[in-house]
Amino acid sequence: MPRVMRIGRVELKVLDLEKSVDYYTKIIGLQETGRMGDSVYLKAWDEFDHHSLILTKSNTAGLAHLAFKVETLEDLAYYEKQVEKFGCTTTRISRGARLGEGEAVHFILPTGHHCELYTEIDFLGTAVGTLNPHPWPLGAQGIAPHRLDHCLLTGDDLKTVTRFFIEALNFRQSERITSVDGEELLGSFLFTTNKAHDLAFVKGPDAKLHHAAFFVDSLHDVFKAADILSMYEVPFDVTPTRHGITRGETIYFFDPSGNRNEAFASGYMTYPDMPTITWTEDKIGQGIFYHRRELSESFMKALT
Ligand code: FE
Repeated sequence: MPRVMRIGRVELKVLDLEKSVDYYTKIIGLQETGRMGDSVYLKAWDEFDHHSLILTKSNTAGLAHLAFKVETLEDLAYYEKQVEKFGCTTTRISRGARLGEGEAVHFILPTGHHCELYTEIDFLGTAVGTLNPHPWPLGAQGIAPHRLDHCLLTGDDLKTVTRFFIEALNFRQSERITSVDGEELLGSFLFTTNKAHDLAFVKGPDAKLHHAAFFVDSLHDVFKAADILSMYEVPFDVTPTRHGITRGETIYFFDPSGNRNEAFASGYMTYPDMPTITWTEDKIGQGIFYHRRELSESFMKALT
């Protein structure tokens, strides 16, 4: 079975396009790589492909779609069949429908989110290149994360969406949150790479975004992100702390449209033979915020 390589892009709906571009370039530190219609395309300095984030002007905030990259056209056709076999309808999105992208396979997740698989996208290269590269580029602005890391989405039927990613897309589950009796699935953390998670779900309304996360190297970088966000007076949701789940170091904040972002560092590595870690609902506070040990109302309720 081929593997899905990674989360490749997210398209976020934003209310004020120019304000959002300003935030994602100056404060997050992404690079604008193109514009088409009401959309602006951006990439992080350490990413090779044309874009990992699309900002699209809309009347509401939230996730327009997220997409996973596969290695070859054969893999794309293979997973298209797998998705159909699971019972989700697929449609092909034609080359050129968005900037720099080849054909994509679109379907709707059991949680109502728009999802795509693709393999072809223009290659731009990283800011440091591939010949005798420096470790990071001089003159990078803002938080300057390496890459898009993962998304957390909300949905009602987490058992089915977990089964979808495992059975149709060959993902594995690193961690889960269950009711104390183990009957109900309240959170599901899924991976296809060696990362602690590439995509996660928590129980909540269908088709909503909890956050999109960007990867930074270390706790020091999370702290520096907090400094930068304070300099620009960006609203925080959660100041730097550690996750019990994934063991990552984290900070949460909001973009100008209210979409939650995360700067995420570390986290353990996963392997195909790791058993799934379980957190019970009574320990969920520790699971999400290891130090504070309780969830805040904004963290639970602010969704786009
Ligand atoms: Fe996260």
